[in-house]
Amino acid sequence: MSYVISGECCSDASCVAVCPMNSIHPSPGEPGFGAGASLFIDPRTCIDCGACADICPVDAAQPVDQAAPEDVERNAAYFAEREPLEAMDLDSWEPPSYQVWGDGPRRVLVVGAGPAGMYATRELLLRTTAEVTLVDRLEQVGGLVRYGVAPDHPQTKQIISTFERVIQHPRVQWRPGTDATGLPPDGFDAVVHAVGARRSRRLGIAGEEAACTAEDFVAWYNGRPGAPAPVGLAGPRAVIVGNGNVALDLARILLSDEQRLRSMDVPTEVRATLAASGVKEVVLLGRRGPEEAAYTQAALHELLAAVGDRVELRYHARPTAWSSDGLTLGSGETIAAGNLFTAIGFEGQAIDGLPFDAERGIVPNVRGAVVGRPGHYVAGWIKRGARGGIGVNKACAQETVAMLVSSSRAAASPGS
Ligand SMILES: Cc1cc2nc3c(=O)[nH]c(=O)nc-3n(C[C@H](O)[C@H](O)[C@H](O)COP(=O)(O)OP(=O)(O)OC[C@H]3O[C@@H](n4cnc5c(N)ncnc54)[C@H](O)[C@@H]3O)c2cc1C
Repeated sequence: MSYVISGECCSDASCVAVCPMNSIHPSPGEPGFGAGASLFIDPRTCIDCGACADICPVDAAQPVDQAAPEDVERNAAYFAEREPLEAMDLDSWEPPSYQVWGDGPRRVLVVGAGPAGMYATRELLLRTTAEVTLVDRLEQVGGLVRYGVAPDHPQTKQIISTFERVIQHPRVQWRPGTDATGLPPDGFDAVVHAVGARRSRRLGIAGEEAACTAEDFVAWYNGRPGAPAPVGLAGPRAVIVGNGNVALDLARILLSDEQRLRSMDVPTEVRATLAASGVKEVVLLGRRGPEEAAYTQAALHELLAAVGDRVELRYHARPTAWSSDGLTLGSGETIAAGNLFTAIGFEGQAIDGLPFDAERGIVPNVRGAVVGRPGHYVAGWIKRGARGGIGVNKACAQETVAMLVSSSRAAASPGS
C-alpha cells in the first residue's frame, strides 16, 4: 500500500520535507512546482510510513485504499513516464536551500543508528564537511524500523536499504556493536544522542510482571538478537491493553494464520511458535472511547481486513489486576484470558551525564541542543518523546543538526 494526495492539496510542501524517501514531487525547485494543482507521491518508492498524512495541513494525503479512484489515477499518470528518483541519493540529491557550512564541526559522534541517527548523519554529510563516527549497540542499522515495525509491512522496512547506503560514505566511520554508555566523547566537537525510547510503559497493576510487553514481543517476532520469547501462548483468548498502532500490530501478528505467516520475513522459530499458538481471539482494551483512540483509521482498517472476525474492541476499560483467571477491570468484571500483552506506549531512559525529564521520558533540550550541556545534542524519540512515525525523525534530525552547526560556527567566530 502507498499514500496518494487528493485534489485538496495546498502545495505547501510540508510533506516534501518529512518524506523519508524523497517520494513527493514536484518538490520546491523542480519543474512544475507551484504550476499544478497538486503534489504527487511516487508509489514505487513510498514506504507507507504516513509522515505526509501526519503533517498535511489540509488532510490531503490518504492511504491508497481510502483515496478516490480519480486521485489514484492522476497520481499514477504523473509518474507513468518518470524514472523513480533514487531515495536519499547523496551524490545527486540536494535540498533546495543546500549550503555547505565549511566552518562547522570537524568530528561528530552520532549514538544510535535508528531513523533519527541516520537522518542526523545524512544531514551532517550534506551540510558540513565533518567526519562522522556512528555507533550502535546492535550489529545493524535501522533501530525500531528493523526490530519494531511489523514484519507484514515489508514496504516500510525498505528504508533500511537507504540507511545502509549512508554508512558506505567515506566520511562515515560505522562502529556496530558499540554501546555508548560511558563512552568518553573526547576528541569530538559534538555528540548527537539518537538512542530512541524503546522501554515499554508499565500499567502499574498487580500481576503485571507476568504480562508480555510490546517491547519484548515486537523484538522477538522481528528476530532481535537476545529478545526473550513470549512465555506460553496458551489462549484461547489474549488481552492486549493499548489502543495505538503498536497494539494493533500485536493483534495482527498474534492472530495470523499459517498462510499469512508464510508471507512474512520472520525467523523460523517465530513462525513455528505463532503457528502453534493457542491464541484464537484477542480483546483489545482502550482506556478511552473510539473517538479518542490513538490508532489511525488506516491501521484499524488493516487489522479488521486481516483478522477482524477474531478481534473484539473494548473501550472505556480500566484494568486493575492480572491473575490466572484473567484481567480484572475497575468495574469488577474479569475478562477470562490466558495471556496479557501491554502496548501502552514507550519511554526513554536517562543517559549518563545528561539531564533527564523522567515525566516525559526525554532529555530536556532546545531544538535539539541539550539544556546545560554544550556540545551535546539529541534527535528522535529521546528528544521529542515516543511519538511519530519514521518520517517525522527526518525534520527532527534536520533541526538538531542546524542547531549543532550554528552553535559550532558561533564558537568558531569570536565576537559573533
Ligand atoms: C513497535 C513499533 C512499530 C512501529 N511501526 C512503525 C511503522 O509501521 N511506520 C512508521 O512510520 N513508524 C513506526 N514506528 C515508529 C518508528 O519506529 C520511530 O519513529 C523511530 O524508530 C524512532 O527513531 P529513533 O531513531 O528515535 O529510535 P530507534 O529506532 O529506537 O533507534 C535508536 C537506536 O539507538 C541504539 N541505542 C540505544 N542506546 C544505545 C547505546 N547506549 N549505545 C549505542 N546505541 C544505542 C538502539 O540500538 C537503536 O538502534 C514504530 C514504532 C514501534 C515501537
